[in-house]
Amino acid sequence: MLNVFISIKIIDGTVRKCIVLNNLDLTAKKTDILNKFTNEYLRVLDNTCLQLPVADSSNDLHHLTYSNMRKTSFLPSDIIEEARKDIWKDRKGITSNGHTFTKCSIRLNKRWFRYIKTKRNNPCFKITYSPKKNFTIPIRTDKQFQRFGSFLKDGWIFDNISLLKNDKIAVVFEKEFTKPEINRRYVLGIDVGSSTLAAVTIFDTETSKVVKQLYFGKDIVKEQRKYSERRNKLKSLADKGSHRARQNLEKLKHKQFNFVKTRSGQIAKEIINLARSYNAYISVEKLKNLKGRRGQFNKNTNNKINRIPYGKFKEFLKSNCEMFQISLYEVDAYHTSKWCHKCGALNNGHHSGNYSLYKCRCGLIVNSDRKASLAVAVKSVLERTKTHSITNLNSVQISNTRVPVDELLRSDDIGLKVAVQHNNQSMESHHF
Ligand SMILES: [Zn+2]
Repeated sequence: MLNVFISIKIIDGTVRKCIVLNNLDLTAKKTDILNKFTNEYLRVLDNTCLQLPVADSSNDLHHLTYSNMRKTSFLPSDIIEEARKDIWKDRKGITSNGHTFTKCSIRLNKRWFRYIKTKRNNPCFKITYSPKKNFTIPIRTDKQFQRFGSFLKDGWIFDNISLLKNDKIAVVFEKEFTKPEINRRYVLGIDVGSSTLAAVTIFDTETSKVVKQLYFGKDIVKEQRKYSERRNKLKSLADKGSHRARQNLEKLKHKQFNFVKTRSGQIAKEIINLARSYNAYISVEKLKNLKGRRGQFNKNTNNKINRIPYGKFKEFLKSNCEMFQISLYEVDAYHTSKWCHKCGALNNGHHSGNYSLYKCRCGLIVNSDRKASLAVAVKSVLERTKTHSITNLNSVQISNTRVPVDELLRSDDIGLKVAVQHNNQSMESHHF
Protein backbone atom coordinates (compact mmCIF):
# COMPACT_ATOMS: atom_id res chain seq x y z
CA MET A 1 0.00 0.00 0.00
CA LEU A 2 1.58 3.22 -1.14
CA ASN A 3 -1.31 5.55 -0.54
CA VAL A 4 -1.50 5.47 3.20
CA PHE A 5 0.85 8.22 4.21
CA ILE A 6 -1.95 10.57 5.13
CA SER A 7 -5.23 9.37 6.43
CA ILE A 8 -8.23 11.57 5.85
CA LYS A 9 -11.26 11.58 8.00
CA ILE A 10 -14.22 13.40 6.56
CA ILE A 11 -16.82 14.04 9.13
CA ASP A 12 -20.09 12.98 7.70
CA GLY A 13 -23.42 11.40 8.51
CA THR A 14 -25.69 11.63 11.52
CA VAL A 15 -24.86 13.84 14.44
CA ARG A 16 -26.42 13.25 17.86
CA LYS A 17 -26.83 15.69 20.70
CA CYS A 18 -28.43 15.11 24.05
CA ILE A 19 -30.33 17.75 26.00
CA VAL A 20 -31.50 17.19 29.54
CA LEU A 21 -34.75 18.95 30.42
CA ASN A 22 -35.99 19.64 33.94
CA ASN A 23 -39.44 18.57 35.00
CA LEU A 24 -41.78 20.82 36.91
CA ASP A 25 -42.91 19.47 40.28
CA LEU A 26 -45.47 16.74 39.79
CA THR A 27 -48.81 16.47 41.56
CA ALA A 28 -49.16 13.71 44.17
CA LYS A 29 -51.15 11.61 41.73
CA LYS A 30 -48.57 11.91 38.96
CA THR A 31 -45.74 11.25 41.38
CA ASP A 32 -47.52 8.08 42.36
CA ILE A 33 -47.85 6.96 38.73
CA LEU A 34 -44.22 7.75 37.99
CA ASN A 35 -43.12 5.78 41.07
CA LYS A 36 -45.22 2.79 40.06
CA PHE A 37 -43.83 2.95 36.55
CA THR A 38 -40.25 3.18 37.81
CA ASN A 39 -40.70 0.38 40.35
CA GLU A 40 -42.18 -1.90 37.73
CA TYR A 41 -39.28 -1.17 35.40
CA LEU A 42 -36.88 -2.00 38.25
CA ARG A 43 -38.73 -5.28 38.85
CA VAL A 44 -38.40 -6.17 35.15
CA LEU A 45 -34.69 -5.34 35.29
CA ASP A 46 -34.23 -7.56 38.35
CA ASN A 47 -36.09 -10.48 36.82
CA THR A 48 -34.29 -10.20 33.52
CA CYS A 49 -31.03 -10.10 35.39
CA LEU A 50 -31.80 -13.42 37.10
CA GLN A 51 -31.62 -15.20 33.73
CA LEU A 52 -28.37 -13.53 32.74
CA PRO A 53 -26.05 -16.37 33.90
CA VAL A 54 -27.76 -18.86 31.57
CA ALA A 55 -28.13 -16.58 28.55
CA ASP A 56 -25.57 -16.78 25.76
CA SER A 57 -26.84 -13.87 23.75
CA SER A 58 -29.21 -10.94 23.91
CA ASN A 59 -31.67 -12.98 21.88
CA ASP A 60 -31.31 -15.85 24.32
CA LEU A 61 -32.08 -13.52 27.19
CA HIS A 62 -35.18 -12.38 25.34
CA HIS A 63 -36.48 -15.95 25.00
CA LEU A 64 -35.74 -16.71 28.64
CA THR A 65 -37.60 -13.70 29.99
CA TYR A 66 -40.05 -12.19 27.56
CA SER A 67 -43.14 -14.39 27.82
CA ASN A 68 -43.05 -14.37 31.61
CA MET A 69 -42.68 -10.59 31.71
CA ARG A 70 -45.52 -10.11 29.23
CA LYS A 71 -47.81 -12.13 31.49
CA THR A 72 -46.88 -10.42 34.74
CA SER A 73 -46.07 -6.84 33.81
CA PHE A 74 -48.27 -3.91 32.85
CA LEU A 75 -45.43 -2.38 30.83
CA PRO A 76 -45.69 -2.23 27.04
CA SER A 77 -43.65 -4.86 25.24
CA ASP A 78 -41.22 -2.31 23.78
CA ILE A 79 -40.28 -1.10 27.21
CA ILE A 80 -39.69 -4.66 28.44
CA GLU A 81 -37.41 -5.11 25.45
CA GLU A 82 -35.53 -1.92 26.32
CA ALA A 83 -34.95 -3.26 29.83
CA ARG A 84 -33.55 -6.49 28.41
CA LYS A 85 -31.24 -4.56 26.08
CA ASP A 86 -29.98 -2.46 28.99
CA ILE A 87 -29.22 -5.56 31.02
CA TRP A 88 -27.38 -7.19 28.13
CA LYS A 89 -25.37 -4.07 27.46
CA ASP A 90 -24.30 -3.75 31.09
CA ARG A 91 -23.85 -7.48 31.69
CA LYS A 92 -20.16 -7.15 32.52
CA GLY A 93 -20.87 -4.68 35.27
CA ILE A 94 -23.59 -6.88 36.76
CA THR A 95 -21.95 -9.48 38.93
CA SER A 96 -24.08 -11.58 41.25
CA ASN A 97 -27.34 -13.44 40.61
CA GLY A 98 -29.10 -11.64 43.37
CA HIS A 99 -28.61 -8.20 41.88
CA THR A 100 -31.23 -5.67 42.87
CA PHE A 101 -31.60 -2.42 41.02
CA THR A 102 -32.43 0.71 42.96
CA LYS A 103 -32.04 3.30 40.22
CA CYS A 104 -32.84 3.33 36.57
CA SER A 105 -33.54 5.52 33.61
CA ILE A 106 -36.34 4.47 31.30
CA ARG A 107 -35.87 4.83 27.58
CA LEU A 108 -39.03 5.39 25.56
CA ASN A 109 -39.32 5.19 21.81
CA LYS A 110 -41.75 7.38 19.90
CA ARG A 111 -44.66 5.00 20.33
CA TRP A 112 -44.69 5.70 24.06
CA PHE A 113 -44.30 9.43 24.37
CA ARG A 114 -45.47 12.57 22.68
CA TYR A 115 -44.24 16.14 23.01
CA ILE A 116 -47.27 18.35 23.42
CA LYS A 117 -48.34 21.78 24.59
CA THR A 118 -51.22 22.37 26.96
CA LYS A 119 -54.02 24.81 26.27
CA ARG A 120 -52.02 27.39 28.19
CA ASN A 121 -49.09 26.64 25.91
CA ASN A 122 -47.03 24.86 28.58
CA PRO A 123 -44.70 22.18 27.22
CA CYS A 124 -45.24 18.60 28.38
CA PHE A 125 -44.34 15.06 27.60
CA LYS A 126 -47.28 12.71 27.43
CA ILE A 127 -46.03 9.31 28.55
CA THR A 128 -47.79 6.04 27.86
CA TYR A 129 -46.65 3.75 30.66
CA SER A 130 -49.01 0.90 29.88
CA PRO A 131 -51.15 0.29 26.80
CA LYS A 132 -53.85 2.99 26.79
CA LYS A 133 -52.72 4.48 30.10
CA ASN A 134 -50.88 7.74 30.16
CA PHE A 135 -49.93 10.79 32.15
CA THR A 136 -48.18 14.07 31.34
CA ILE A 137 -44.96 15.46 32.73
CA PRO A 138 -44.74 19.27 32.55
CA ILE A 139 -41.37 20.74 31.56
CA ARG A 140 -39.66 23.70 33.19
CA THR A 141 -39.24 26.52 30.67
CA ASP A 142 -35.66 27.33 31.66
CA LYS A 143 -32.40 27.73 29.76
CA GLN A 144 -32.32 24.05 28.88
CA PHE A 145 -35.76 24.30 27.42
CA GLN A 146 -34.65 27.25 25.30
CA ARG A 147 -31.85 25.13 23.88
CA PHE A 148 -34.36 22.38 23.20
CA GLY A 149 -36.49 24.90 21.29
CA SER A 150 -33.60 26.16 19.20
CA PHE A 151 -32.67 22.59 18.23
CA LEU A 152 -36.22 21.96 17.06
CA LYS A 153 -36.11 25.17 15.07
CA ASP A 154 -32.86 24.15 13.40
CA GLY A 155 -34.45 20.98 12.11
CA TRP A 156 -33.11 18.48 14.64
CA ILE A 157 -35.44 15.60 15.38
CA PHE A 158 -35.81 13.18 18.28
CA ASP A 159 -37.22 9.69 18.28
CA ASN A 160 -36.58 8.71 21.86
CA ILE A 161 -36.34 10.16 25.32
CA SER A 162 -35.20 8.81 28.67
CA LEU A 163 -36.87 9.43 32.00
CA LEU A 164 -33.98 10.03 34.34
CA LYS A 165 -33.89 9.95 38.10
CA ASN A 166 -34.00 13.36 39.81
CA ASP A 167 -36.91 14.68 37.74
CA LYS A 168 -35.16 15.09 34.46
CA ILE A 169 -35.83 13.97 30.91
CA ALA A 170 -33.05 13.37 28.41
CA VAL A 171 -33.88 14.07 24.77
CA VAL A 172 -31.64 12.61 22.09
CA PHE A 173 -31.61 14.83 19.03
CA GLU A 174 -30.41 13.70 15.63
CA LYS A 175 -29.64 15.49 12.42
CA GLU A 176 -28.38 14.21 9.09
CA PHE A 177 -25.53 16.10 7.55
CA THR A 178 -24.63 15.67 3.95
CA LYS A 179 -21.13 14.91 2.87
CA PRO A 180 -19.08 18.10 3.02
CA GLU A 181 -17.76 19.42 -0.21
CA ILE A 182 -14.07 18.66 -0.53
CA ASN A 183 -12.86 20.57 -3.54
CA ARG A 184 -12.62 23.89 -1.80
CA ARG A 185 -10.19 26.52 -2.90
CA TYR A 186 -8.90 27.54 0.52
CA VAL A 187 -7.45 25.41 3.25
CA LEU A 188 -7.05 26.45 6.86
CA GLY A 189 -4.06 24.69 8.41
CA ILE A 190 -3.79 24.51 12.19
CA ASP A 191 -0.72 23.83 14.27
CA VAL A 192 -1.24 23.25 17.94
CA GLY A 193 1.84 24.75 19.43
CA SER A 194 3.94 25.40 22.45
CA SER A 195 3.57 29.15 22.72
CA THR A 196 0.03 29.54 21.48
CA LEU A 197 -2.92 27.17 21.42
CA ALA A 198 -3.24 27.33 17.67
CA ALA A 199 -1.37 28.96 14.84
CA VAL A 200 -3.45 29.16 11.70
CA THR A 201 -2.56 29.57 8.04
CA ILE A 202 -5.09 30.20 5.30
CA PHE A 203 -3.66 28.87 2.09
CA ASP A 204 -5.04 29.48 -1.39
CA THR A 205 -4.68 26.31 -3.44
CA GLU A 206 -5.27 28.11 -6.74
CA THR A 207 -2.51 30.67 -6.41
CA SER A 208 -0.53 28.67 -3.84
CA LYS A 209 -0.20 31.74 -1.71
CA VAL A 210 -0.48 32.25 1.99
CA VAL A 211 -3.50 34.47 2.42
CA LYS A 212 -3.46 34.99 6.14
CA GLN A 213 -1.77 33.77 9.29
CA LEU A 214 -3.06 34.17 12.82
CA TYR A 215 -2.27 33.09 16.36
CA PHE A 216 -5.00 32.01 18.71
CA GLY A 217 -4.92 31.51 22.46
CA LYS A 218 -1.62 32.95 23.58
CA ASP A 219 -3.46 33.90 26.74
CA ILE A 220 -4.15 30.25 27.52
CA VAL A 221 -0.48 29.42 27.68
CA LYS A 222 0.14 32.40 29.96
CA GLU A 223 -2.80 31.56 32.21
CA GLN A 224 -1.83 27.90 32.38
CA ARG A 225 1.60 28.93 33.59
CA LYS A 226 0.06 31.09 36.33
CA TYR A 227 -2.26 28.28 37.36
CA SER A 228 0.54 25.81 37.65
CA GLU A 229 2.62 28.20 39.75
CA ARG A 230 -0.29 28.71 42.12
CA ARG A 231 -0.99 25.00 42.20
CA ASN A 232 2.61 24.22 43.07
CA LYS A 233 2.51 26.68 45.98
CA LEU A 234 -0.75 25.30 47.31
CA LYS A 235 0.44 21.75 46.88
CA SER A 236 3.55 22.30 48.94
CA LEU A 237 1.39 23.87 51.68
CA ALA A 238 -1.06 21.00 51.47
CA ASP A 239 1.79 18.51 51.71
CA LYS A 240 2.82 20.22 54.93
CA GLY A 241 -0.64 19.47 56.29
CA SER A 242 -2.68 22.57 55.53
CA HIS A 243 -6.31 21.56 55.17
CA ARG A 244 -7.21 24.96 53.81
CA ALA A 245 -4.53 24.74 51.13
CA ARG A 246 -5.87 21.37 50.04
CA GLN A 247 -9.38 22.77 49.71
CA ASN A 248 -8.12 25.77 47.77
CA LEU A 249 -6.10 23.49 45.55
CA GLU A 250 -9.22 21.57 44.60
CA LYS A 251 -11.07 24.80 43.88
CA LEU A 252 -8.20 26.03 41.77
CA LYS A 253 -8.10 22.82 39.72
CA HIS A 254 -11.79 23.16 39.06
CA LYS A 255 -11.42 26.78 38.03
CA GLN A 256 -8.53 25.94 35.74
CA PHE A 257 -10.48 23.13 34.13
CA ASN A 258 -13.39 25.46 33.40
CA PHE A 259 -11.14 28.18 32.09
CA VAL A 260 -9.43 25.82 29.67
CA LYS A 261 -12.72 24.37 28.53
CA THR A 262 -14.30 27.75 27.92
CA ARG A 263 -11.33 29.20 26.08
CA SER A 264 -10.83 26.10 23.94
CA GLY A 265 -14.46 26.30 22.91
CA GLN A 266 -14.22 29.99 22.09
CA ILE A 267 -11.08 29.54 20.03
CA ALA A 268 -12.51 26.60 18.13
CA LYS A 269 -15.49 28.82 17.26
CA GLU A 270 -13.24 31.69 16.13
CA ILE A 271 -11.34 29.34 13.85
CA ILE A 272 -14.52 27.86 12.44
CA ASN A 273 -15.81 31.35 11.70
CA LEU A 274 -12.58 32.15 9.92
CA ALA A 275 -12.88 28.96 7.84
CA ARG A 276 -16.47 29.82 7.00
CA SER A 277 -15.55 33.32 5.87
CA TYR A 278 -13.14 31.79 3.34
CA ASN A 279 -15.29 28.74 2.65
CA ALA A 280 -12.15 26.80 3.57
CA TYR A 281 -11.76 23.25 4.76
CA ILE A 282 -9.66 22.60 7.84
CA SER A 283 -6.51 20.58 8.19
CA VAL A 284 -5.00 19.52 11.52
CA GLU A 285 -2.36 17.08 12.65
CA LYS A 286 -3.32 13.75 14.02
CA LEU A 287 -3.17 14.15 17.75
CA LYS A 288 -1.28 11.02 18.69
CA ASN A 289 1.72 11.98 16.64
CA LEU A 290 2.07 15.27 18.37
CA LYS A 291 3.72 14.09 21.54
CA GLY A 292 6.11 11.77 19.78
CA ARG A 293 7.10 14.49 17.42
CA ARG A 294 7.95 16.97 20.10
CA GLY A 295 9.10 14.40 22.60
CA GLN A 296 12.67 14.69 21.47
CA PHE A 297 13.02 18.12 23.03
CA ASN A 298 13.94 18.83 26.59
CA LYS A 299 11.86 17.97 29.59
CA ASN A 300 11.00 21.52 30.45
CA THR A 301 9.54 22.11 27.05
CA ASN A 302 7.44 18.99 27.26
CA ASN A 303 5.93 20.11 30.52
CA LYS A 304 5.02 23.37 28.91
CA ILE A 305 3.39 21.57 26.01
CA ASN A 306 1.50 19.17 28.21
CA ARG A 307 -0.36 22.01 29.83
CA ILE A 308 -1.94 22.91 26.52
CA PRO A 309 -5.43 21.43 26.17
CA TYR A 310 -5.15 19.74 22.78
CA GLY A 311 -7.80 17.15 23.49
CA LYS A 312 -10.51 19.59 24.53
CA PHE A 313 -9.68 21.95 21.71
CA LYS A 314 -9.87 19.26 19.09
CA GLU A 315 -13.15 17.93 20.42
CA PHE A 316 -14.69 21.40 20.06
CA LEU A 317 -13.20 21.77 16.63
CA LYS A 318 -14.68 18.48 15.48
CA SER A 319 -18.17 19.12 16.76
CA ASN A 320 -18.20 22.62 15.24
CA CYS A 321 -17.05 21.25 11.90
CA GLU A 322 -19.95 18.82 12.00
CA MET A 323 -22.40 21.61 12.73
CA PHE A 324 -21.22 23.81 9.91
CA GLN A 325 -20.43 21.04 7.47
CA ILE A 326 -16.77 21.86 7.14
CA SER A 327 -14.44 19.04 6.15
CA LEU A 328 -11.83 18.29 8.76
CA TYR A 329 -8.73 16.51 7.49
CA GLU A 330 -6.28 14.94 9.84
CA VAL A 331 -2.82 14.78 8.38
CA ASP A 332 0.20 12.79 9.36
CA ALA A 333 2.54 15.12 11.25
CA TYR A 334 5.53 13.61 9.49
CA HIS A 335 8.17 16.34 9.06
CA THR A 336 5.66 19.19 9.33
CA SER A 337 7.78 20.84 12.02
CA LYS A 338 11.07 20.21 10.19
CA TRP A 339 10.32 21.12 6.60
CA CYS A 340 11.37 24.57 5.43
CA HIS A 341 8.80 26.23 3.20
CA LYS A 342 11.39 28.54 1.71
CA CYS A 343 13.88 25.99 0.42
CA GLY A 344 12.32 22.61 1.10
CA ALA A 345 15.15 21.43 3.35
CA LEU A 346 14.76 19.60 6.62
CA ASN A 347 16.05 21.02 9.87
CA ASN A 348 15.79 19.97 13.45
CA GLY A 349 13.22 22.62 13.72
CA HIS A 350 14.23 24.97 16.48
CA HIS A 351 16.52 27.89 16.95
CA SER A 352 19.12 26.99 19.57
CA GLY A 353 18.49 30.16 21.57
CA ASN A 354 14.71 30.26 21.28
CA TYR A 355 12.46 27.24 21.16
CA SER A 356 9.60 29.09 19.51
CA LEU A 357 11.69 29.99 16.46
CA TYR A 358 12.44 27.79 13.49
CA LYS A 359 15.75 28.34 11.78
CA CYS A 360 16.89 26.99 8.42
CA ARG A 361 20.31 26.88 6.74
CA CYS A 362 18.84 29.00 3.96
CA GLY A 363 18.49 31.87 6.36
CA LEU A 364 14.79 31.59 7.14
CA ILE A 365 13.95 32.34 10.75
CA VAL A 366 10.26 32.19 11.55
CA ASN A 367 7.91 31.31 14.37
CA SER A 368 7.82 27.53 14.42
CA ASP A 369 4.08 27.21 15.06
CA ARG A 370 3.32 29.56 12.22
CA LYS A 371 5.58 27.60 9.92
CA ALA A 372 4.08 24.29 10.98
CA SER A 373 0.52 25.51 10.33
CA LEU A 374 1.52 26.23 6.74
CA ALA A 375 3.14 22.80 6.45
CA VAL A 376 -0.07 21.19 7.74
CA ALA A 377 -2.10 23.08 5.13
CA VAL A 378 0.31 22.18 2.33
CA LYS A 379 0.34 18.57 3.38
CA SER A 380 -3.41 18.29 3.13
CA VAL A 381 -3.20 19.82 -0.34
CA LEU A 382 -0.66 17.17 -1.32
CA GLU A 383 -3.07 14.52 -0.21
CA ARG A 384 -5.95 16.07 -2.13
CA THR A 385 -3.71 16.35 -5.18
CA LYS A 386 -3.06 12.69 -4.89
CA THR A 387 -6.58 11.53 -4.32
CA HIS A 388 -8.50 13.99 -6.45
CA SER A 389 -6.00 14.61 -9.26
CA ILE A 390 -5.85 18.33 -8.74
CA THR A 391 -2.41 18.90 -10.14
CA ASN A 392 -2.26 22.63 -10.70
CA LEU A 393 0.27 23.00 -7.92
CA ASN A 394 3.11 21.55 -9.97
CA SER A 395 4.54 24.83 -11.21
CA VAL A 396 4.13 27.01 -8.20
CA GLN A 397 6.86 29.09 -6.70
CA ILE A 398 8.00 30.59 -3.47
CA SER A 399 9.90 33.86 -3.69
CA ASN A 400 10.65 33.15 -7.33
CA THR A 401 12.07 29.73 -6.64
CA ARG A 402 10.54 26.32 -6.61
CA VAL A 403 10.29 24.68 -3.28
CA PRO A 404 10.41 20.92 -3.24
CA VAL A 405 7.98 19.17 -0.94
CA ASP A 406 9.51 15.71 -1.13
CA GLU A 407 10.70 15.94 2.44
CA LEU A 408 7.18 16.37 3.73
CA LEU A 409 6.29 12.95 2.45
CA ARG A 410 7.29 9.58 3.74
CA SER A 411 9.87 7.80 1.59
CA ASP A 412 7.33 5.48 -0.01
CA ASP A 413 5.48 8.44 -1.39
CA ILE A 414 8.04 10.56 -3.20
CA GLY A 415 7.12 11.54 -6.70
CA LEU A 416 4.86 14.48 -6.19
CA LYS A 417 6.32 17.79 -7.18
CA VAL A 418 4.53 20.61 -5.53
CA ALA A 419 5.64 23.91 -4.19
CA VAL A 420 4.21 26.88 -2.40
CA GLN A 421 4.49 30.57 -2.87
CA HIS A 422 5.18 32.67 0.13
CA ASN A 423 4.63 36.33 0.89
CA ASN A 424 6.46 37.72 3.84
CA GLN A 425 3.57 39.14 5.77
CA SER A 426 3.43 40.04 9.37
CA MET A 427 1.46 37.74 11.57
CA GLU A 428 -1.70 38.92 13.22
CA SER A 429 -2.43 37.99 16.76
CA HIS A 430 -5.80 37.37 18.34
CA HIS A 431 -6.29 38.53 21.87
CA PHE A 432 -9.31 38.39 24.07
ZN1 LIG B 1 15.18 26.76 4.23
